Amino acid sequence: SPAPRHRGRFAPSPTGPLHFGSLVAALGSWMIARRAGGDWLVRIEDLDPPREVPGAAERQLQVLHAFGMAPDGPVLHQSTRGARYEQALRRLLESGDAFECRCSRSELEAVGGIHRHCIGRDNTRPAAVRLRLPDGGLGFDDALQGRFVQDLGREVGDVVLRRADGFWAYQLAVVVDDADQGITCVVRGADLLDSTPRQIYLQQRLGLPTPDYMHLPLVLDATGQKLGKSLQALPVDANDPWPALAAAWGFLGQERGALARRGTTAEALQHALQHFDPQRLPRTRGHAVSAIVEGG
Ligand code: GLU
Repeated sequence: SPAPRHRGRFAPSPTGPLHFGSLVAALGSWMIARRAGGDWLVRIEDLDPPREVPGAAERQLQVLHAFGMAPDGPVLHQSTRGARYEQALRRLLESGDAFECRCSRSELEAVGGIHRHCIGRDNTRPAAVRLRLPDGGLGFDDALQGRFVQDLGREVGDVVLRRADGFWAYQLAVVVDDADQGITCVVRGADLLDSTPRQIYLQQRLGLPTPDYMHLPLVLDATGQKLGKSLQALPVDANDPWPALAAAWGFLGQERGALARRGTTAEALQHALQHFDPQRLPRTRGHAVSAIVEGG
């Protein structure tokens, strides 16, 4: 069968305004998809109502639009996807890959925080459902970060698929949705590098294809810390997109002059795309933004 059409995605959680790190992930995934002549989709990861900020998803979509990035298909909301997650969960329960667990957080913390087998003493608690993760290394080749290997059993332990309060876990939802949306290339922040081997394992157990992965460096401040409150405020402003767009383009290691401030942002991105060079993307886990802002 012919290779599937290239399809990328951006998947923000609507827990607040879109910050600069998210803009970098959006722009990076957009450029990679467009350069391959593929589609770019947006998925709102609204799985956790308590952490959700009302109106945040709509504002994130407005920001993407103001920055010249329009999705190629309808925006998928994870809150509408319970039936599909349920199906996947049932399959994993039937195959014995998933199991009910009544361990409490404090019980697990007492044994180092990694679930290797159930130690819960209270069998009246509502049960979470976990995925059994085997010992032994699972590795993959990241397009920027190189080979990444993890011993799932020893380093991660059995992960939650459905929480005891009934909410779906990100790890299950992301795997089901990437497959259902036909995503062939996942471009996202390096904070999720660590989650990728378990997602690949889950794909294997569900008989789903594994996409290519590219993890972009996290945005760090000048002292090498994860972007702090002050820099989080680096304006990602729908009313004034140019400064942040230029900073994101520079953060991705691209030639500054290629993003000309001419016409609409969509036109500028279309032009910049012709100069986009993936070889220039930074191949680190974290990369400072301050120089870009100062040099901007
Ligand atoms: N929703 C996740 C976040 O905002 C991203 C998930 C992903 O790209 O796989 O951090």
